Amino acid sequence: MLRKFLPDEHVESILDIKPDKLRQRGVKALVTDLDNTLIAWNEKGTTPQLVHWFSSLKKVGISVMILSNNSEKRVKLFSDSAGVSYIYRARKPLPFAFRRAMRIMKVTGDEMVVVGDQLMTDVLGGNQVGAHTILVTPIASTDGWATKMNRHLERFILSLMRRKGWLKWEE
Ligand SMILES: [Mg+2]
Repeated sequence: MLRKFLPDEHVESILDIKPDKLRQRGVKALVTDLDNTLIAWNEKGTTPQLVHWFSSLKKVGISVMILSNNSEKRVKLFSDSAGVSYIYRARKPLPFAFRRAMRIMKVTGDEMVVVGDQLMTDVLGGNQVGAHTILVTPIASTDGWATKMNRHLERFILSLMRRKGWLKWEE
């Protein structure tokens, strides 16, 4: 059970994920969370670094989609400005939006990478569909109210994993 929450990898920033390395591993699609993964939950626009990162993913032939539990208004605003497709109100960790993304991008779970800042939504959901999961350190140290509740459980799960020696990174 606890294994379902264990990410395959951890990075400080999404920009540390190198598109050519993914491609070499046979990755064909990347699904990413929005809030506190790409930008802080209380900010709106994209950054030149993110625009560059998205375009280098596409350049090596990796399809990209944003999967967010947030509202259409917020997700559309960011995704349109970044030029990336999206699914809003994705209800992660439920598998439906992940499966929809896989159908749209025509990939199987093991050809897909799922990136996000939360174990309870992004990592759990990605693991359930057989994707390679990458946990990022949240951009902002604050969270929206729904995320705050998840963080309590997340800290507990992380402490269990740390005790088992599963985590290879420092908090
Ligand atoms: Mg998030």
